[in-house]
Amino acid sequence: MSENADAGAKGASDGAVPAAWEPVIGLEIHVQLATATKMFCGCELSFGERPNTHTCAVCLGLPGSLPVANARAVHFGLMIGLALGSELAPRSIFHRKNYFYPDLPKGYQISQYEEPLCRGGRLGDVRIHRVHLEEDAAKLIHVGASGRIHGSDASVVDFNRGGTPLAEIVTEPDLRSPEQCSEWLKLLRTTLRQLGVSDVNMEEGSLRCDANVSVRPAGARELGTKAELKNMNSFRYLERGIRAEIARQVEVLQRGGEVVQETLHYDPTSDRLTSLRSKEEAHDYRYFPEPDLIPVAIDERMLARARAELPELPAARAERFQRQLGLSRESAQLLAFRAELGDYLEAALAAGAEPEPPPQALANWVSGELAGRLDEGADPASSRVTAAALAALVGLVSAKRVSVGAARQVLDKLVTEGGEEHHPRRDDAEERDLWTPTPMPPSACGRATKRRSGRSSAPSCAKPRAAPMAARCAGWCANSWASDGWSAQGPEFWTAGQCRRAIATRACMTCDRPASPQASGPRAGSCCCPRRGRTQTEGGHRSVATN
Ligand SMILES: [Zn+2]
Repeated sequence: MSENADAGAKGASDGAVPAAWEPVIGLEIHVQLATATKMFCGCELSFGERPNTHTCAVCLGLPGSLPVANARAVHFGLMIGLALGSELAPRSIFHRKNYFYPDLPKGYQISQYEEPLCRGGRLGDVRIHRVHLEEDAAKLIHVGASGRIHGSDASVVDFNRGGTPLAEIVTEPDLRSPEQCSEWLKLLRTTLRQLGVSDVNMEEGSLRCDANVSVRPAGARELGTKAELKNMNSFRYLERGIRAEIARQVEVLQRGGEVVQETLHYDPTSDRLTSLRSKEEAHDYRYFPEPDLIPVAIDERMLARARAELPELPAARAERFQRQLGLSRESAQLLAFRAELGDYLEAALAAGAEPEPPPQALANWVSGELAGRLDEGADPASSRVTAAALAALVGLVSAKRVSVGAARQVLDKLVTEGGEEHHPRRDDAEERDLWTPTPMPPSACGRATKRRSGRSSAPSCAKPRAAPMAARCAGWCANSWASDGWSAQGPEFWTAGQCRRAIATRACMTCDRPASPQASGPRAGSCCCPRRGRTQTEGGHRSVATN
């Protein structure tokens, strides 16, 4: 008997998978690329702006309009492919994927089908099937209390998002548990963030994950029938949705039923799965080559440019942490895969604390004691504990001049009240027998030394601030602003929720033209503005003037 999830199956999401069954999961990740303009037209990308103000004949699909591929999106696609170790197609083509939906004005989406930009590759333990480029659909807004189509009074369309460049990353079905999926997706997110190709913000939809879930008898080689969970927008929901779907499928199979191939929506508030539609096969989309676009031909120059912009990626950083610092594999991965922890560790090591803390001890304090005292996922560089203060504290513990218990108490204070009042005050620490006076050496980061300068004769630090000190948005999105040659246009953009716009309107200091929102961090110094390093023809491919 075939059974779908239409009844609104309630997932037994806390249940462990019985040993007789093995879940098999593959992920499909849509990444909005941080170009300045859309995939096939010159409209600026936007977020949270007035609806339907970033549109043109091309992205509205008006008759007679012609698309032109965004060269920077192709460049970002190549960077992703190189980072994942994919085989890059010397020639890839765009196809039309035909389906009718109100958020798709052309009646088809331009995507890549038979010849994607990248094939194969690997990230961590998971093989990559392919990476291709496509355009995002517009956004349907359902007016009503629920915000969902069911029970809404009306639906309206905002075409601002329509045509945003996407890279779709498809994995092989190599994942075996919800936790592994979430861990791996975090690694992918860190990798993409390091590459600077997207702001990978799941809540804002710039990183969206679908999961293909199936279950088979343990030890079987053949795959079970899969169901696809759509658009999960947080790591927690991804885990919970997959867990609920595994539980549902196991239950169906144990009763002797059959799983139906379908597309499901997971509602985290009710922990329920509902069927959106029966899953389409590729032939349902009537793919055919897009006649208005020439093939994407990759030449050596484009590859060289993409290679030159590759930063150190998390996997390579983990390897370096093991080799250079002698960290354990687990610790090295933990710190490298959460870039902000790795940055903090490196800033602490560079702080020149005396006695010098052993790297492994410092790593343990960063990822364990400190991270455990902060909000989940918080960047320690934004906390009150300076890297230099933690380094000094761990140095004292390692030299057995302060007990672990006492150091934990000091860290508690530093986290809640910051170093200014507590860390440098000898009287405060000596009162509790916590602090052995140690002359403070100059640090790599001006902040730490400055804080002590009023109380000791430590020389003031002349070195520039370390990378983690980059300014951050004061609003809720906490996007970082690196000081890498791009200037913000005015302090008024520093208000909550506005920073995305501010980043979009940053200008190049050399030529004062708008910058790509992600032209920062690892690719510091590379100007993507139209007046520098850009040509109108690349690899036989016309490019959009402002991307
Ligand atoms: Zn447009």
